[in-house]
Amino acid sequence: MTSATDTSTDPAADAAVRVRFAPSPTGMFHVGGARSALFNWAVAKQQAGTFVLRIEDTDTSRNQPEWVDGILSAMEALGITKDDPAFEGPYFQSENAGIQKEAAQRLFAEGKAYYCDCTRDAVLARTGNQQTGYDGFCRDRGLEYAEGRALRFRTPDDGETRVVDLIRGNPTFPNKNLEDFVIARGNGSPVFLLANVVDDIDEHITLVMRAEEHLPNTPKQQLLWEALGQTPPQWAHMPVIVNEKRQKLSKRRDKVALEDYLAEGVLPDAMVNYLMLLGWAPGNDEEILPFDELVRRFRVEDINSSSAFFDIKKLTAFNGEYIRALSVPEFTTACGPWLHAPYAPWTEEQFDSEVFDAVAPLAHSRVALLSEITSNVDFLFLDAPVLDEDSWNKAMKAGAAELLADVRTALADPALAGWTAEVLKDTVTAVGEAHGMKLGKAQAPVRVAVTGRRIGLPLFESLEVLGRERTLTRIDAALARLTETAARTSEEVPAGAE
Ligand code: GLU
Repeated sequence: MTSATDTSTDPAADAAVRVRFAPSPTGMFHVGGARSALFNWAVAKQQAGTFVLRIEDTDTSRNQPEWVDGILSAMEALGITKDDPAFEGPYFQSENAGIQKEAAQRLFAEGKAYYCDCTRDAVLARTGNQQTGYDGFCRDRGLEYAEGRALRFRTPDDGETRVVDLIRGNPTFPNKNLEDFVIARGNGSPVFLLANVVDDIDEHITLVMRAEEHLPNTPKQQLLWEALGQTPPQWAHMPVIVNEKRQKLSKRRDKVALEDYLAEGVLPDAMVNYLMLLGWAPGNDEEILPFDELVRRFRVEDINSSSAFFDIKKLTAFNGEYIRALSVPEFTTACGPWLHAPYAPWTEEQFDSEVFDAVAPLAHSRVALLSEITSNVDFLFLDAPVLDEDSWNKAMKAGAAELLADVRTALADPALAGWTAEVLKDTVTAVGEAHGMKLGKAQAPVRVAVTGRRIGLPLFESLEVLGRERTLTRIDAALARLTETAARTSEEVPAGAE
């Protein structure tokens, strides 16, 4: 880009919308940032405009280069890709320091800004009240630049600044409430308010769509646009995102990193769809729609100004639907990371992809997060099941040992009509009936003995895949444990109690 005050001479560029996403690389990529990026991307895609990515990296005490990589890879995961013709950048705010300083100098030269050497304490001593802000003491002192002197913007004394905000209904701000704010620090470096405006001008941004927390900055920034001889952009301040207690999502309290959701096995498409609905709805009560359709229907004016609830249950339900919409081979591919180190609790030698393929259709119809795949299939690959104590205690009640012993005998019978889910089901049903138990109750101890858990894939299909030998070995191990527990319990009975 060229200069802060250079107006575009290309009429086509003037006509097409130019939006931007301007994250500060100070932490993990926040779901709120992801929503901002997507809304801007949707506008650019819909209107054949341009989406500029600008990394606001001027806060050197908080910025880390690895966060920049995190932003780029998270955006790629959301489908906002550098290869798309609508994508421009990334630009780095730090690289524009020259034109930002130039703009500050111009404002000073034109009398629109002035140097100030007041300390905070001196201002407070004069105003006696923190709330009123700067009192304009240096406005007409004619100070030149010297190390330590801040540059302040001279705000109008009267009138009002009206902001065209597509979401907020064009709020107006009385200028008398706007203090003469600092635009460059005592060391000459421009502050956020100015750097952000100069970059937006330089990048020919026509619509600034960003988080609501920046709304109070907007009248000041609009005055800067005008003072720099530019027509201000349209604004759109998106609603805050809150948790179930209606508190603003915070990285200290809530799970906010996009990466964490993806690592849990939220499919990027499901995440994109869900984020697009944070504060906006496509209409007709439809929610699950392909991105292209969301883009087609998107209207900034329809974004709700009230806070948007980040509903993890709803996101998970969405994800379940997206998983169901995959084919089984696609599902298997998507599960890939969780089937191997470091996510999988089994070794590469223990894993068997044919065994996985045999149960993949069963898992495909039930998991809501891809990470759930490991606990659904671990019994197939580990030498012994992961025993969940709670499941054990609930399933191994009185009568369980006798039932399991009879199931074991029936399954070990050489006359069994085969090792298929159907035969296994009939066998357990018959043994259950002999014990006065319905199938639901009778299969619980079998399930826990074999898989370690009360909840999981359909039992008889699981046993079929696990095979006769391993099933019997696990029932034996459970019986041995039950006998041991029974022996220990009877030893604990105090002498003479019987
Ligand atoms: N860098 C700012 C932030 O991350 C964004 C400023 C803007 O969008 O104007 O909050």
